[in-house]
Amino acid sequence: MFASVFCTALAIAAPAKLVVLDAGHGGAKSGTKTIGGVTEASITLEIAKVARDILEKGGVRVIMTRRDDTTLDLSTRVAVANEANAAAFISVHNNHAPVPERRGVETYILSANASDEATAALMAVENESEPVKAQAPSEDFGGGDPLSMILDDLSRTAAHKDSALLAKAVQDSLGKVSGLGPSRGLRQAPFHVLRGAKMPAVLVEIGYLSHPQQGETLASARGQRLAGEALARGVLKFIAEERTVAP
Ligand SMILES: [Zn+2]
Repeated sequence: MFASVFCTALAIAAPAKLVVLDAGHGGAKSGTKTIGGVTEASITLEIAKVARDILEKGGVRVIMTRRDDTTLDLSTRVAVANEANAAAFISVHNNHAPVPERRGVETYILSANASDEATAALMAVENESEPVKAQAPSEDFGGGDPLSMILDDLSRTAAHKDSALLAKAVQDSLGKVSGLGPSRGLRQAPFHVLRGAKMPAVLVEIGYLSHPQQGETLASARGQRLAGEALARGVLKFIAEERTVAP
């Protein structure tokens, strides 16, 4: 009994985690769209809003990179997360395929190379034709001082490992939702929006807007609610797991 009281006291004393939710695209860059013409930018924003509300109810602080239909470049999105010293960064997207039958959820973490050809094609869309910015030396990589660069690199390795845990939690949660799944697996790609993130960071493609039923589901308020709830559940699971292993 004493142990449980003590644990409860610790949980109350722990500072609230801060998460940055990034609704993909927006403004002049609307992303892909459903067969009916509903844009990815509008769908991701609604899903992110639902997830934000649930996370906040769960005691998590949330910053949205955009709260309306504004244009935002990719480096600004991750900079918001870095400046806020967020515990997690989740970029929310929806997918598109040249074949109508493809459906399901995919979650990505950053890597130097795309997992496969389909991922390479997706990258071209999600990177929004923004030029690749030099990654080093820069302030992001410790400002050029060798020791800081090494320490920074190590911190990124730890964050990268946690990105895989975050990706799995989000992917498992979304993959179970009827109408959104199935899970198409965890993947890796050099998405610009994940570059330079100093915390666990993932890009989730919640579903295929090119699939007739899945696209319709994601364009509906009900589908957006289901997706936002599942996304929030995944993030909450990740945060709970992190608390368990934290010293
Ligand atoms: Zn997208």
